[in-house]
Amino acid sequence: MKTKLSLLYGGKSAEHKVSLQTAKAVIQALDPAKYEIQPIFITTEGQWIKGPLLNGPVETVKELEFSEGDAVAPNALAVALTNTDSDSDVIFPLLHGPNGEDGTVQGMLELLNLPYVGNGVLASAAGMDKVIMKNLFAQAGLEQVKYVWFVRQTWKQNPENAYSEVEEALGYPCFVKPANLGSSVGISKCTNRDELAQAFEEAFQFDRKIIIEEGVTAREIEIGVMGNDAPECSVAGEIVPKKDFYDYKAKYEDGDTALIIPADIDDETYSAMKDMAVDAYKALDNSGLVRADFFLTKEGRILINEVNTMPGFTPFSMFPLLWKHTGVEYPELIEKLVALAKERHEDKQ
Ligand code: ATP
Ligand code: MG
Ligand code: MG
Ligand code: MG
Repeated sequence: MKTKLSLLYGGKSAEHKVSLQTAKAVIQALDPAKYEIQPIFITTEGQWIKGPLLNGPVETVKELEFSEGDAVAPNALAVALTNTDSDSDVIFPLLHGPNGEDGTVQGMLELLNLPYVGNGVLASAAGMDKVIMKNLFAQAGLEQVKYVWFVRQTWKQNPENAYSEVEEALGYPCFVKPANLGSSVGISKCTNRDELAQAFEEAFQFDRKIIIEEGVTAREIEIGVMGNDAPECSVAGEIVPKKDFYDYKAKYEDGDTALIIPADIDDETYSAMKDMAVDAYKALDNSGLVRADFFLTKEGRILINEVNTMPGFTPFSMFPLLWKHTGVEYPELIEKLVALAKERHEDKQ
């Protein structure tokens, strides 16, 4: 019997377009003999539109941007998704950032009692909030950069106080980030107080909470982790941004950032990183997949920066490329993730 795989893509986030590309690539990779594909497009306004069942690849993403058909609100979607005679349905949320990667969609799917690819509610939410994530990493004894955080209200009451606190705790350079985002949106590097003030303004446009981190000079190494209770690691990859840091433009517009896979690191470093990646996975109660991002300093210190619970997933993104170099091609990667979704679902029953 075919598995009906419902793809959730698009969405209100800054990564709407990337998500469409991912959906197209996933559809392309699926074997029509094994899968029936149910596309569900989320518009930039947040409207959910269920498209026709697909039996094979599409030529362009245009074909996935439905403008009519059954427009469904998330609650009506419950009926749409569960209205099926197959018991082997799986949902694959190909969404990044808030309202996709942060536990909200996952919560809805839990309520519907449907198996879905990727992290559960808690891990998604904890992984989306950089402050909560780093607090959990600290508790697990994982080495990371120093950080402080503020909510908008506290900052507004006395901005100079907040800046002094950052300068005392971290100094310059430092990185200011919205607590709940990804793709480097709203992130600034600061080397003085003027820049710091500007960076606070910027980051608070995206979130009511921000995190400020000590800036490190380091190589950026990433590892893919996949599994439920027995997670496995991919080879390591290195990101070499052509610019000062790996900002949004470098990620999605310039496309000239080099990905070096496998990363040129010694066995000891790789092995320590894998251990840290698995510890981080357990600390956040991850399941399905994450991409764990590290800093490696000249002195050989390994610092965990973050895990991403729904990392970039086009065939040219780091996570799929890491697994490709580990021996898992894109179509097999999707199959594994679908199998993990079913496994976790059965585990819970
Ligand atoms: P994504 O989820 O797409 O990986 P993100 O929005 O979660 O991105 P980070 O990965 O935390 O953001 O940071 C983006 C980039 O900024 C990093 O890849 C790195 O180039 C730089 N950067 C972030 N924090 C630091 C830091 N503390 N020191 C030095 N560089 C940093
Ligand atoms: Mg991230
Ligand atoms: Mg992200
Ligand atoms: Mg990152």
